[in-house]
Amino acid sequence: MCVNIFQLGSGCLYYVIMDLEWNNSYNKIKKCFVNEILEIGAVLVDEHLDVIDTFSVIIKSQLIKKLSGRVKNLTHITNEDMGKGISFYRAFADFEKWLAGRDCIFLSWGNSDIRVLVENFDMFCGQRYVPFLSQYVDLQKYCQQFIVNAGTQQIGLMTAAVEMGIDVTNCKFHRALEDSLLGLRCLKKCYNRELLFNTAVMCDKAFYHKLSFKATYITNINNPKIDRSKLKCECAECGEQMKRMSDWKCVNQAFSAIFLCKHCEKLVTYHVKFKEYYDRIDVKSNITEMKKTESDTE
Ligand SMILES: [Zn+2]
Repeated sequence: MCVNIFQLGSGCLYYVIMDLEWNNSYNKIKKCFVNEILEIGAVLVDEHLDVIDTFSVIIKSQLIKKLSGRVKNLTHITNEDMGKGISFYRAFADFEKWLAGRDCIFLSWGNSDIRVLVENFDMFCGQRYVPFLSQYVDLQKYCQQFIVNAGTQQIGLMTAAVEMGIDVTNCKFHRALEDSLLGLRCLKKCYNRELLFNTAVMCDKAFYHKLSFKATYITNINNPKIDRSKLKCECAECGEQMKRMSDWKCVNQAFSAIFLCKHCEKLVTYHVKFKEYYDRIDVKSNITEMKKTESDTE
């Protein structure tokens, strides 16, 4: 019996592993590229990861008449398929009916599907929040922590599946339902009920804000968010603090300045980039050697 499904240990949990196929096309009215969902695939499982049901539907585009060759190749959705598709509104009404009021933890491979889902609810329904989304886990991030040598770069679903020892020979990639079922197989390889439950984030205001936040480079050297200690440069040879000899320049989103090591009489150009994310600033720097000062060449 489900009393309080989000109190781990007492009731039962449900997960929905969702995958969306979408098209990216230029919109003349909005004067920008927009993403439009063309297919929903989802698998509903219980806390033992036993499949309760699957969901699959193709959505008829409201923005384009014909699919581009790239999308056809990538998704294997044909123009005929799309012609038989249903409207966005009806597709998600059916989807909610399919969920039957279950409060589920949603999972998707990387957060781009969720971002497009949110964009589309806003664009087609004028709703800023997705009504059925209450808790979310980025399945890619969750699985990646179990893959040795996976690094920090986002890895694709197929790569992860292969790394986890899943036989993918008969999988049709980039069809929504097939991809969500493959996501489930990956999850089964590293399922830990407590860990997954604790990884889930509430889909609250902060969640939506974070999702729509676009990472940008800081291009003003006086920006107070810049960690000033990252504007210092140490000599690679002697470890001494180098002296800045020029003003900071900002080219291609990177700051650069010339530095001198008085001890080694060496001039270098120090490059540093600050990329601002919702909750952090990533710093990347490198040094390029210029030339030795005259006294050294004597
Ligand atoms: Zn030095």
